[in-house]
Amino acid sequence: MKFLKKILEIIFPNHCLYCQEIITAEGLFCSDCWVKLQFITEPKCEICSYPFEIEIKHMKPSCAACLLKHPAYDKLVTIFRYNKIIGKAIGDLKYQDQTFLAKKLAKLLSEKAKEEIIDCDLICAVPLHLKKLRKRKFNQAILIGKYLSKEKFMPDLLWRVNDTAPQVSLRKKEREKNLKRAFLVNKKYRKELRGKKILLIDDVMTTGATVENCAKALRKSGVEKVTVLTIAKTIFD
Ligand SMILES: [Zn+2]
Ligand SMILES: [Zn+2]
Repeated sequence: MKFLKKILEIIFPNHCLYCQEIITAEGLFCSDCWVKLQFITEPKCEICSYPFEIEIKHMKPSCAACLLKHPAYDKLVTIFRYNKIIGKAIGDLKYQDQTFLAKKLAKLLSEKAKEEIIDCDLICAVPLHLKKLRKRKFNQAILIGKYLSKEKFMPDLLWRVNDTAPQVSLRKKEREKNLKRAFLVNKKYRKELRGKKILLIDDVMTTGATVENCAKALRKSGVEKVTVLTIAKTIFD
């Protein structure tokens, strides 16, 4: 068995991202880890993709939060509920420089959001502040976006002007204020955005504050529709 394992490792040197188990297929995870991924499926909020326990019949399915205040974006399309398994793939891309993962994650996204990619006019990514970009060398959302569509992707459409890095040390109110002013549409494109449909890429949606403020910046330039596309979304119970 050990011998066979060695041979397989030589022929298919692919490991599960999470548990390091050798996998012979081209995927990211072994079958044990794959089944632990949590896909977000119907029934869910038609705006923010918050999953529901039961189906609400004869009603437009929106969650309480979206009914109370409609987000600045029109719709979020996401694949996974954030957990440690998918978190490992995203973390490896972001912090371990495993940039090959961008292509694999983009493939998952393009399968999930085929219609949205065809329907949109432009694709952009949530920007990183320059300071962070220098430290990390790349923006994971831009790496992913590049693989979604060569023609539609505009990596410099949004700019992050405020450094919101020390978020933890700031009080909630200050954090919100900081984020509100953090995103700007690149001046050179401002006039071209009126009436456009935009797909905004991020890796994970946590509180939604970042994409909310990006969407607001896009709306200010007259964008008609903002669809957010993320790999995972954190679900707070
Ligand atoms: Zn595994
Ligand atoms: Zn919702």
